[in-house]
This record gives sequence, structure tokens and C-alpha cells, in this order.
Amino acid sequence: MRKGILFVISGPSGAGKGTVLKEVFKTVTDLEYSVSATTRAPRNQEKEGVNYFFKTREEFDKMVKNGDMLEYIEKFGNKYGTIKSYIESALERGRDIILEIETLGAEQVRKAGLNPVYIFLTPSSVTELIRRLKSRNTETVDWQQRRVEIGRDELQCAYNYDYLVINDDLQKAVTALIAIIRAERQKVAVNIDKIQQIIDK
Ligand code: 5GP
Repeated sequence: MRKGILFVISGPSGAGKGTVLKEVFKTVTDLEYSVSATTRAPRNQEKEGVNYFFKTREEFDKMVKNGDMLEYIEKFGNKYGTIKSYIESALERGRDIILEIETLGAEQVRKAGLNPVYIFLTPSSVTELIRRLKSRNTETVDWQQRRVEIGRDELQCAYNYDYLVINDDLQKAVTALIAIIRAERQKVAVNIDKIQQIIDK
């Protein structure tokens, strides 16, 4: 049995990662979603063990200390982290799994030697991204400053990824992401066992 493939999807806040992934999972059903641990409180319909494992800061810090996290970051005053055993268990069972994490966390995953497929999701312009962020943000924000930060910090990370998916049209982005998953599954390196089986038959 082949090992699972690890996919890492990142992109700036407002890129629509959650929406795109939700659609992808409707079509690609044999794919797991890495449920992260977080110290932030559940929102609306979010469920324990489905969207996140909700932890106190003490619990989270203990997990970090015990080496349970593949990566973790602090963002907007909350901690978020990928649970190492969750990923390893899926990969060992031959299940492909997708991590939806921000770029700093993705950099940490790079050091773990798991050889993931990196996918970067973004709208086609910072102007559009700012428009989306404005529409859901009620706080006072220096948008000129945010614009600079997004261009300088968040989008520059895209150069380190394997695939770029532009999310201006939801259906197009979903189709592109499904195509990436399918192409990665057809790679020879992933199907070494099958070649020997074909030869032996
Ligand atoms: P939210 O609070 O909106 O669910 O997530 C905020 C940000 O944290 C998003 O960009 C999301 O991708 C990121 N995030 C969620 N889980 C993890 C994680 O385990 N590790 C890292 N590095 N980022 C995460």
C-alpha cells in the first residue's frame, strides 16, 4: 500500500480557502482534512473535532512542550497548530490529507521532511483581496498599510509553493485544485507498488 500524500494549502486571509475546500471535498471524498488545535473560541456552527480541537492556552502549550505539534503559530492573539499524530496516522494508513494553514506554519512543515505538495490560493489582485477583507471587517484598519503588508509578506511566500490557484471564480478554483490532487495521485513515485504488481501479473 502506498503512503498518503500530504497537501498544504495556504493563502492570505480572504483568499477563500475554506469555501474552495468545502467544494473540493464534495467531489474528492477519499481525502482527509487535518483538524488543527486552536486556543480560539468556537464560532457559530463550529464543532469540536470537526473544525478544530479547541484547547485552553495551558493545554495547547503542553502539547507544544510534549512535541505533539508538527507546526504552530500565533495569529490574532490565538494559537493554531497541526497535530503531528493526526497527520502521521493518515499518511501511514495511505490516506491523502490536506492541511489548511497560513504561510508561516507552512514554512515550519518544510523542515519536517514530509515532502508535501504546496498549493497557494489567492485572488488575482491585492485590490480584490482588500475589497473582500473590507466587506467583512468592522474594525478600523489602515488599509494602505495592510496593502503593503499583504504584498510584502503574505504574497511573497507564493514563490515557495508548487502550485498557484487563482480564486476569482469559485468553480474554476475548485476545478484547478481537484486537477492538482488528481495529477499528484498519478505520479510514478506515488505508484511504485502498482508498477511491480503490473509486472507480476
Ligand atoms: P480561523 O481563525 O479563521 O479559523 O483561522 C485563521 C488562520 O489560521 C487561517 O489563515 C488558517 O488557515 C490558519 N490556521 C488554521 N489552523 C492552522 C494550523 O494548524 N496551523 C497554522 N499555521 N495555521 C492555521
